[in-house]
Parts: sequence; structure tokens; C-alpha cells
Amino acid sequence: MKQEKELFAQVANALVIWYHANKRIMPWRAEPTPYHVWISEIMLQQTRIEAVIPYYDRFLRAFPDVQTLAETDEDRLLKYWEGLGYYSRARNLKKAAGQIIRDHGGRLPQTAAELKKLPGIGDYTAGAIASIAYGKPEPAVDGNVLRVLSRVAACPDDIMLPATRKAMTEQLRAIYPAGQDASDLTQGIMELGETVCLPNAVPRCEICPLQGCCRAHSRGVAMDFPVKSPKKARKIERKSVFLLLCDGRYALHRRDSSGLLANLWEFPNIPGHATMQEIESYLRECGLHPLAVTPCGKAKHIFTHVEWHMTGYLVTCEQPGGDFVWKTAEEILTQYAIPTAFRAFTSLIK
Ligand code: SF4
Repeated sequence: MKQEKELFAQVANALVIWYHANKRIMPWRAEPTPYHVWISEIMLQQTRIEAVIPYYDRFLRAFPDVQTLAETDEDRLLKYWEGLGYYSRARNLKKAAGQIIRDHGGRLPQTAAELKKLPGIGDYTAGAIASIAYGKPEPAVDGNVLRVLSRVAACPDDIMLPATRKAMTEQLRAIYPAGQDASDLTQGIMELGETVCLPNAVPRCEICPLQGCCRAHSRGVAMDFPVKSPKKARKIERKSVFLLLCDGRYALHRRDSSGLLANLWEFPNIPGHATMQEIESYLRECGLHPLAVTPCGKAKHIFTHVEWHMTGYLVTCEQPGGDFVWKTAEEILTQYAIPTAFRAFTSLIK
């Protein structure tokens, strides 16, 4: 990537001014303490702002500071995270809170280098906390920032390559302001990427504060940027999911302690779209005697790299059994963290 420091300095000035006049009201912006910025940035990873807002308020009422977060029971924490997905984020929050208490006297460290030593905090989140909460001249570069800068500079480099991200981060760091301007620039560039220089849609150049210096706009080729190598197709996994019901209680199974959705609760399931014969043989292996097996719908859930295509069955059983816990719908809905992937089936038991 060629040297763009002068252009980026112009972008920074324009965005700080624009952000003052255009920032949206967000709960985490009312009082941007390091703890609030940290929690909001972790929640906002891979999750839309509208979806995060109710979770953020509820989460802060339950865990108002690092201490309560460090001391909470993991199951309780996961229940508060239920529906947000990517549960390792919640587990890392708890681990990091413990480390902050032990090593930093309960205060989040101020530098990006120290922040990155905490579980779940990478370059982007460290930059966001350091600049927004502490006013450090530290950029926070995510997909939004890469898109905006790549359009402004009409940069032909592939933004999926770590080398491109590194080059943009370094050039941005060289011109980054400190104090309140650092906070406003980090939030301003995110805000512009979310509301004006849109992903997957025509950018709203007519209202953009960078219109005067944006090369992609002046050449009429904004949609050609950023240059991005195509993602690999997601793997498809088929599953048969069972709502095993006995005396008003449903069976739940705890997932393995590592891998996707580690340690969370799920409805029993087997790989593949099973035939009736395969279902009967599975139930027998679990030591269950089915009274009736009824199809109860199909569902699909998309993770980053994999899609689950699920077929559900309601199975009434003579007696509880198998390697399961049996709970009422009320208990499941209030006490167990069931991943959103099973939402279609959780709705059925309501
Ligand atoms: Fe994006 Fe258009 Fe603004 Fe350029 S002028 S940064 S393409 S919205």
C-alpha cells in the first residue's frame, strides 16, 4: 500500500468534526468508562447494534462492574448471553475480569499492548478501549474502517490480507490524535461505516463528510472498493433434533467442553437427516421407549463457517432415561442457556 498519511490526516480531521454533529445516541456512549466500552465492543462483534442494545442494558444491571463479572457463576453468565451467539466471548469476559482483578487491581489496563494480554481482546478491541475510554492515539481497525479507508484511498490491495490491514493500521496510527479526538475519531469512523459508507449497499456519498477527498467517489467507482477475495463456501451439516418429552419434562444434553457452542445445553440430536429406522435405533441406544414420534418442523442456522440444516421430531417417551437431564419448559427457558441455533425448537416448547 502506498503512503497515504496526508490523506488519512485529512480524513481524521473531517471525521472528528462530523462525529460531533452526527453521533447517534447509544447506551454505551452515555458514560464511556473502560468497562462499558469493553462490554459493548465485545457484544458488538459479529452482532448488529439493534440486537445488542437490550442485551447491553440487561447485562450491565446483572454485572455492573469487573468484580461482579469475575465472581459470577458461568451458567448464569451464559444465560444472560443467550441469543447473542459466539458464547466464547462471554467466557472470555469472565476470564479477563478475573485477570483484571488479579493483575490490575480491578481496572482495565490503559495501553493496547496490556489490553491484548487479556482473553478475548485482540487488536481491534484493544484499540477501541484504549482510544475511546483512555484517549490513547490507537486506531481500532475493523471491516468498517478498512472499507472506508480503502474507498477514500481507492486502494487496490485485498483487505482480507493481514498485510493490507497492517499497512492501513500503521499509517492510521501515525496520524492518530490523542485525548477526546482519539475517542471521537474511533467512533466517527465506525459511525460513518455503519450509516454512510455502507457495506453491501450503495454508499451515501451525497451526505458524506469525506466526499471532497474520496478518490473512489471522485472517480465514480465507490462500489468497486474495497477489493476483497471471495470467502470460502460454508460447510453444510445436517442434523436430526429431538424434543424428547416425558411427563411434561424435556431432555437436555450438555455439549462438549470444547469446540462450537462448548458446554452449552442443547436438545439431543444426531448427525444427518435420519430415517425412522435410524431414529428408533438411536432412541433404543439411549435406553428410551418411544410412544410416538412426530416430525415437528425444519430449521436452519448459519454460523460463520458452517450451516446447520435441522429436522425436528417430537418424541413422547414412556420414562425418562439416557444421558440427559429432564426439565420442564419453564426450567429450560429460565435457567438453561440454549444456543440460538435451536431457537425454532425452543419456541415449540414454550
Ligand atoms: Fe464512502 Fe462515498 Fe464517503 Fe467515499 S464519499 S467514503 S465512498 S460514502
